Amino acid sequence: MATDVEIALQFSPLPITEISERLGINSDHLHPFGRDIAKIDLKALTQNKQKPGKLILVSATTPTPSGEGKTTTTIGLAQAFSQLNESVCMALREPSLGPCLGMKGGATGGGYSQIMPADRINLHFTGDFHAITSANNLVSAAIDNHIYQGNDLGIDPRQIVWRRVMDMNDRSLRNIVLGLGGKMQGIPREGGFDITAASEVMAMLCLAEDAEDLKRRLDRTLIGYTYASEPVYAAQLKITGAMMALLRDALQPNLVQSFEGTPAFVHGGPFANIAHGCNSVIATRMAMQYADWTITEAGFGFDLGAEKFFDIKCRTANLDPDAVVLVTTVRALKMHGGKLKNNLETEDLVAVQQGLGNLDKHIESVAIFNKQPVVALNRFATDTDAEIAIIRERCAAHDVAFAETTHHADGGKGAIELAKAVIRSVTQNAPFKPLYDLDLTVLEKVRAVCKSMYGADDVAFTKDAEKDLKLVQQLGLTHLPVCIAKAPSSLSDDPELHGRPRDFEVTVRSIQINAGAGFLVILTGKIMRMPGLPKEPAANGIQLLKNGVIEGLE
Ligand code: ADP
Ligand code: MG
Repeated sequence: MATDVEIALQFSPLPITEISERLGINSDHLHPFGRDIAKIDLKALTQNKQKPGKLILVSATTPTPSGEGKTTTTIGLAQAFSQLNESVCMALREPSLGPCLGMKGGATGGGYSQIMPADRINLHFTGDFHAITSANNLVSAAIDNHIYQGNDLGIDPRQIVWRRVMDMNDRSLRNIVLGLGGKMQGIPREGGFDITAASEVMAMLCLAEDAEDLKRRLDRTLIGYTYASEPVYAAQLKITGAMMALLRDALQPNLVQSFEGTPAFVHGGPFANIAHGCNSVIATRMAMQYADWTITEAGFGFDLGAEKFFDIKCRTANLDPDAVVLVTTVRALKMHGGKLKNNLETEDLVAVQQGLGNLDKHIESVAIFNKQPVVALNRFATDTDAEIAIIRERCAAHDVAFAETTHHADGGKGAIELAKAVIRSVTQNAPFKPLYDLDLTVLEKVRAVCKSMYGADDVAFTKDAEKDLKLVQQLGLTHLPVCIAKAPSSLSDDPELHGRPRDFEVTVRSIQINAGAGFLVILTGKIMRMPGLPKEPAANGIQLLKNGVIEGLE
């Protein structure tokens, strides 16, 4: 099969003005970024009060490190809806340079189910990540400058919780010492970097309803404590106005299209392992206002992205998906059945059978939110009919809908069966039920997610985490939802435990208070908020060709 770049070169996109016109967006609200990309003014949201369309959530079983095709399935499914003459729009996350240059590669789908222009979307796109990085780092610069200029607020350099960010996998920046070099170079202190996709500014932008809401969130962001251990908030540094200025354009969702001309809002990009994992509320609402069907993706497995989609995003934004798609693959289930990650391409019926526990758990997890999934088997060329039959039978045993898809090889027509199953499933879905009530204690909330989503026996808080918990109580923030940071390759907090792990405990290492985003980040196991590069990063395979084409981003 042709590479993603070769396939992309076969397609000529429609002008973005035509895509927005088809959605019914007033041309006054379009800010084109060249021919193929546009930002949409937030006025387009307030001026279109028609009844919102239906929302479809695409999630997955626990993935292999290269991903099982949620984005690709979201795009294929949306193209299938278009082929069925349904009005449809996607709401997707913006890719981060971390995975693009690191382990996973780009995030614009693959084969004949891609959004375009994939190279631009994967690299700098409309600059949203840069704006978020700048807004975040303005806070850091302001904190260190405030201390340098006399420290009127009495900020304790040892108790600053705000970290710098950059959009790069760079483990050497996780823990650093700043301000070395003498009197003129600032006050020495320990600090560090997270990746932009994990920054609280990213989360705030993605959860904000509008500019005013974003400003309120920025103002109440906790940045550290004084020598008297009183909290200090971003508003006290007087920089949230400038942050809003930096974020003005980034707050507008980006409109692009798939190969088959299906519209997609691609906006905001928090990771689902170390952040809340969903595209912006604004993009989801915009899509729902202009299309009868919105298809959105929540990152990694259902235990991470979808749990946060329901318990954080849907709860705060008052959204409720009408259908849930659970993507699975033969190769992932083989990995869960004990096969090595580099040996997933030969038929192995025993491994598929042994890996079904992972699928079982995720099907059960969907039901916890009061929903019925449609399982989408994303077919790879190396899959055999006998392997797929095992998965089909298991879904029948659970009495859940099943559809095999070939949208990677065939585009939208490879997902027509899935689209029909999704449309049928809408009537079976009741309003969603959150996994936990907000008035539970933090420990009870974390325990609820670990036990019912991950299948853990219990949770253990380290001494550090217990200290953090006391701070949460002192600040009166125990009512916030929890955003658990956990290994994406396992249901447990141990990345090496595949399948359906049982008899394990989740260790909570620390808690970070994201008062602006409105959640508590619960760090489990050894997960870091700044990833590192693998020995052979994807960057090693990327080239700019003489004709201007960029190769190796898939
Ligand atoms: P996710 O969103 O779940 O992380 P993606 O949709 O980004 O996964 O897919 C991960 C990678 O696998 C992409 O490079 C994509 O092109 C590739 N891929 C997905 N489905 C298939 C398939 N059926 N056959 C071959 N490659 C696929
Ligand atoms: Mg994806």
